[in-house]
Amino acid sequence: MMTAQEYEASLREMNFRVYLLGELVENPVDHPMIRPSMNSVKMTYALAEEKRYEDLMTATSHLSGERINRFCHLHRSSADLVRKVKMLRLLGQKTAACFQRCVGMDAINAVDSVTYEIDRELGTDYHRRFVNFLLKMQEQDWTVNGAMTDPKGDRGLAPHRQADPDLYLRVVERKEDGIVVRGAKAHQTGAVNSHWLLVMPTIAMGPEDADYALCFAAPSDAEGVLHIYGRQSCDTRKLEGGTIDVGNRQFGGHETLMVFEDLFVPYENVFMCGEYRFSGALVERFAGYHRQSYGGCKVGVGDVLIGAAALAAEYNGVARASHIRDKLIEMIHLNETLFSCGIACSAEGCPTASGTYLIDLLLANVCKQNVTRFPYEITRLAEDIAGGLMVTLPSEKDLRHPEIGPIVEKYLCGVAAVSTEERMRVLRLIENLALGTAAVGYRTESMHGAGSPQAQRIMIARQADLDEKKKLARNIAGIG
Ligand code: SF4
Ligand code: FE
Repeated sequence: MMTAQEYEASLREMNFRVYLLGELVENPVDHPMIRPSMNSVKMTYALAEEKRYEDLMTATSHLSGERINRFCHLHRSSADLVRKVKMLRLLGQKTAACFQRCVGMDAINAVDSVTYEIDRELGTDYHRRFVNFLLKMQEQDWTVNGAMTDPKGDRGLAPHRQADPDLYLRVVERKEDGIVVRGAKAHQTGAVNSHWLLVMPTIAMGPEDADYALCFAAPSDAEGVLHIYGRQSCDTRKLEGGTIDVGNRQFGGHETLMVFEDLFVPYENVFMCGEYRFSGALVERFAGYHRQSYGGCKVGVGDVLIGAAALAAEYNGVARASHIRDKLIEMIHLNETLFSCGIACSAEGCPTASGTYLIDLLLANVCKQNVTRFPYEITRLAEDIAGGLMVTLPSEKDLRHPEIGPIVEKYLCGVAAVSTEERMRVLRLIENLALGTAAVGYRTESMHGAGSPQAQRIMIARQADLDEKKKLARNIAGIG
């Protein structure tokens, strides 16, 4: 396995083409707006080095028998699925941000079982190629970026009917030794902190969309790949050099618009090309795994937010007020409900034909549906407890100013035992999670990441077996 330091060094060797605020970034690793997101992924390596987290952070490869990082592992049991959720909660607690590496883990697990099934039915060679790729990923301990969401243009039209055919990623040329692909993937979490990309189709497709039914791997810094870095609320605070106003001094997440400019992919790295009938299964499984993931990562970040709200209450001198205690209990109840869903869909996991375990899809979708709601309520309560000062605080520069600093210090203190600076730090952390850069990962991503709420409702309807429930009712009511 790579150490955290080796991971950072490995990114320095890469040649990303990334634009941020209209400029080509020379050195993404040290860019103050990108660096915190790299720190988050780095934690997935750092914690794997710690003996006390060995059981959660590492696993034994069923392919090589070697100890590997769990982010490179195929789930071999429902216990593995449970450990995954616990690992993500731990990382959420340590970073209070999106640590990005899960998309690749979820992608390899989905691609494994689906390529196995394509080969079994059509006699293709995709699964062998995929396993070769996976072995290298495990050996080198790569961070792999699972890429699913196409820009999609007019949502009312199928891929082949779009005014611009590139609005869904497609194959534009089939050569003797590989394919040429063009298009884009949007909201690419952690793209510039990843070694490789694992691209999947974004929706179930019909025969006319065969050119869009694509799954392949490519290096994230390949010549034909361009990244345009997404903005986050309050992100330029990271350029100010302080440690208070950013709220989270060390960690963050990122997304890019990832553009494929006629990228060549050798056949060895192509895992689906034209088998449109299987694109729906791939989407469903990847989304299912990522919906499970949210029952871990968001809960870990929620733990930090609940802790911050409790601290803010203490610093404001209201920790013992009964309504404050009740609000904290409500936040904990909601957060642990999310965790329960993550654990439940894992415990109910079953093996697929390839031997890789799949979560219970109904419960994973229920998990994510709750995630589209509860973090909003948890955030609302945190804002309630924090008080309005969370958004009216002067800046760190004012606090440090020789003349006005002492005034800020004097008037913005809470309980006497806590410094104004500490009070500012905790309020800025809550602000960061509620409205700042971390709100991307904790709030809006809770809504749209791993699929928007309606996508889960469709899956819940499909998985729920309402006819069976009607039969139960007829039986009890004595209806023939
Ligand atoms: Fe991982 Fe959560 Fe970020 Fe998705 S949102 S990549 S599950 S930390
Ligand atoms: Fe996500």
